[in-house]
Amino acid sequence: MNIIIFGPPGAGKGTQAKNLEIKLNNFQLSTGEILRYEIKKNTEIGKKIINYMNEGKFVDDVIVNSLIKKNISDPKKINKLIFDGYPRTIEQAKNLDILLSDTNQKIDFIFFLNVNKEIIIKRIEKRRILEKRSDDDLNTILRRYETYMDTTRPVLDYYSSHENYHEIDGGMKINQITSKIEQILGV
Ligand code: AMP
Repeated sequence: MNIIIFGPPGAGKGTQAKNLEIKLNNFQLSTGEILRYEIKKNTEIGKKIINYMNEGKFVDDVIVNSLIKKNISDPKKINKLIFDGYPRTIEQAKNLDILLSDTNQKIDFIFFLNVNKEIIIKRIEKRRILEKRSDDDLNTILRRYETYMDTTRPVLDYYSSHENYHEIDGGMKINQITSKIEQILGV
């Protein structure tokens, strides 16, 4: 079963994706984590994207699309993917459709964790202290939120007619969100 966890920065996508990874024995595909790893390893891609990431801007679709491709066609991950932070643009959503159909896969469930701006700011400020992410300062958070509203939120229109599209109140407690998702999945 392939799942997309969708929502603004700070919605708890990563937390829920990690829970599902364990529960379903699936694989979390977090483009943010993949990109941070490229930076940490100081790869050619890492050097190209570091400034975008630190400023809270999107990394180029071509780079992100190329990084997810091998995960989608990896035999051990087929039909076991949990997308966290991808797709974030309409172009990426279209690319995902192509990559999935090329490998005879589809998206089975889409969960939209809906959270308001005030909660996001509070949560990310907390995460900044815990995880020390360089893109979690207040100005960058606000920029990331604007980018989400302008560019990523419209991707929802692309998916909202999907038969297994579910909007969940992302302002609930972590375990309440987990229960809700598991109840819908029937696991
Ligand atoms: P995240 O860990 O999902 O919050 O992502 C952190 C940062 O990585 C984002 O603010 C972007 O700079 C970059 N990023 C992650 N996923 C994508 C994506 N699908 N497309 C473009 N940039 C991305």
